[in-house]
Amino acid sequence: MISYRDIAVGLEKLGLNRSTPVLAHIAAARLGEIRGGTDTLLGAILGTIDNLMMPSFTTATMVVPLVGPPDNFIEYGSASAANLNASIFTRDLPGDQPNNEVSELLRKYPGVYRSAHPILSFTGLGLDAALASQTPQDPYAPIRRLMELKGWVALLGAEPAENFSLHYAEHLANRKQFVRWALTEDGIVECPHFPGCPDGFHKINYYLQDELRVVTVGDSTWSAVPLDVLVNSAVALIRDDPFALLCNSLSCPRCNLVRKLIKNQISQNWQPED
Ligand SMILES: [Zn+2]
Repeated sequence: MISYRDIAVGLEKLGLNRSTPVLAHIAAARLGEIRGGTDTLLGAILGTIDNLMMPSFTTATMVVPLVGPPDNFIEYGSASAANLNASIFTRDLPGDQPNNEVSELLRKYPGVYRSAHPILSFTGLGLDAALASQTPQDPYAPIRRLMELKGWVALLGAEPAENFSLHYAEHLANRKQFVRWALTEDGIVECPHFPGCPDGFHKINYYLQDELRVVTVGDSTWSAVPLDVLVNSAVALIRDDPFALLCNSLSCPRCNLVRKLIKNQISQNWQPED
C-alpha cells in the first residue's frame, strides 16, 4: 500500500516541483492500493505541483459522416445508428477513456478550467491560457503552450502508449494523421490532426536516455521528462526515419496506412542516378 508521503517523494524524485507545469497521465488502477484512495493521490499531486493538466478525452461525441477524405481509416456511412447516440460535447461532459479516474476527480476540483476540443479536451489547474488556446483545428495547442512554459510530462503507472504529446511530435514531423467529426452545441465540427496508433511509443524511451527520469513507487513505475526534450527528440527521430515509433503489429491498419503513404511518397521522389 502506498501513502501520501510515498506519492509526494516519488514526484520529487522525478524532479517535479511547484515551478514545473505538468501534463500527467495517471493509471490509478496500476498503482496498487493507495491509503485514502484516489483522493489522497490527487491531494499529494496537488501538494507538489501547482500547475497540472490531464486529458479529459470524450470519444462519445464522435460521429461518422456519409462521405469524407480518402485514407482516413474510417468506414463512411457505417454509423448512422450510432450517430444518433453520440453525446453533444459540453465542458461538463465526463471524460470517457480508460484510466481516467484521477482526471475525472481533477475535472470536479474547484477552480479547474477545461478546454473546448469536443474529443481531445484537457482539464487543468493554473494553466487556463494554455487550455484556452485549444480549438478543434489545433488540438495540440495546450501541449505547444506547455512546452513554452518549460512543462514536463509525467506517466504515473500509465503506459508509453498513453503519452499523448508524442502525437504532437508526429504532427510536427508531418506524419499522416486523420480527420474525425464530433457533435457540439454548434453542430457537427470537423476535427483534423486526429492521432494514429500509439502502440510503438515505448520505442522513444531508448532515445531519451538520461533525460527520462524513472522511479518505482510501490509496485508501479513512474516516469517524467521535459516536454520539449520528448517532443523534439521524437520529431528528430521521425524526420530521420519516417517509420519510427510505429507499432510492430503487421495487422495494424493505422500504422500500415502510414507506412503505405510513406512508401508512395518515397517511390514518387525516387529518381534513377543516371
Ligand atoms: Zn499500430
